[in-house]
Amino acid sequence: MTARKRIFSGIQPSGTIHIGNYFGAIENWVRLLNEYECFFGIVDYHAITVSYDPALMQRRIWEAALDNIAAGLDPARCTIFIQSHVPEHTELCWLLNCVTPMGELGRMTQFKEKSEQERGNVTAGLLNYPILQAADILIYKADAVPVGEDQAQHIEFSREVARRFNSRFGDYFPVPKTLIGRGARVMGIDGEAKMSKSLENFIGVGEEPDAIWEKLRPAKTDEARKRRSDPGNPDRCNIFSYHKLVTPDGEVREIVKGCTTAGIGCLDCKKIFFNNLRKVLDPIRERRQELERNPEIVREALREGARKARAIAEVTVAGAKKFMGLLSDF
Ligand code: ATP
Ligand code: MG
Repeated sequence: MTARKRIFSGIQPSGTIHIGNYFGAIENWVRLLNEYECFFGIVDYHAITVSYDPALMQRRIWEAALDNIAAGLDPARCTIFIQSHVPEHTELCWLLNCVTPMGELGRMTQFKEKSEQERGNVTAGLLNYPILQAADILIYKADAVPVGEDQAQHIEFSREVARRFNSRFGDYFPVPKTLIGRGARVMGIDGEAKMSKSLENFIGVGEEPDAIWEKLRPAKTDEARKRRSDPGNPDRCNIFSYHKLVTPDGEVREIVKGCTTAGIGCLDCKKIFFNNLRKVLDPIRERRQELERNPEIVREALREGARKARAIAEVTVAGAKKFMGLLSDF
């Protein structure tokens, strides 16, 4: 039997995990569990690159673990861990800092967007974020990285870091492939920007159905459709883009027909989406409640995950140091 290829991906404990994270990344991760040897990090060192409340961080890390395991990252089938519990990530990050030209970092889209949100409080950590991300991936010598579309630029950057290291010091890191999920770019509930934990435009994976409906009911649809009797244009409707994530193809076709002939109103259309979304989220919420009643399962998974991850990370860092001419085993 040939060894399975390996993937790494991460999620920041920067707020509530939402359906953008789920359909853009987590759902794909769950699908890949059979095919790959999987490593998933709750990347807390990334989450502290922007302003945050230290009093909330531990809770967020914990909730990210609960949400991800409840969403299907079964610890028996993958390695799930907290990034800062594997300190070799930061060690490799330093080594990679020293092979990466500074200029490229300031040109990253995420850096520009988040710098704007930070207004005057832009840290060196935020600038270096993509190098730490490259370290997260390369430390497991991952073959592929499943992410949402917004992270494609950073993965391309990680590929470049690997190539640069290899050409300077010798062939060491595999150049990882990018795997984009089905909901490559889920828009926020206001339809203005990508759904983000940090923008308060999200539908949380673990949110109560009533709270989700409160967000959906007033949400924008095709703005040109003013009255129930006006025909709508599904391509201009944010809710329609959500339908494609959860609604079976046949039903999607009926919605298109109904919308374009004014046969179905926006509220009824939202109800169909809501019910289909619940089919995905209700079982996740139930598993989450179950895990909350048994926190030791989660704690043990995270401890064991860090142990397994660390065993690999240590070897990779020692090898990288050797390639770079440092004394790794003195
Ligand atoms: P933040 O706003 O703090 O950056 P985020 O919502 O962007 O949080 P991340 O933890 O940065 O979430 O990303 C985790 C994964 O989810 C990544 O693979 C990312 O590409 C994916 N992702 C995030 N938002 C979306 C979205 N709206 N649509 C599809 N995928 C997404
Ligand atoms: Mg993000």
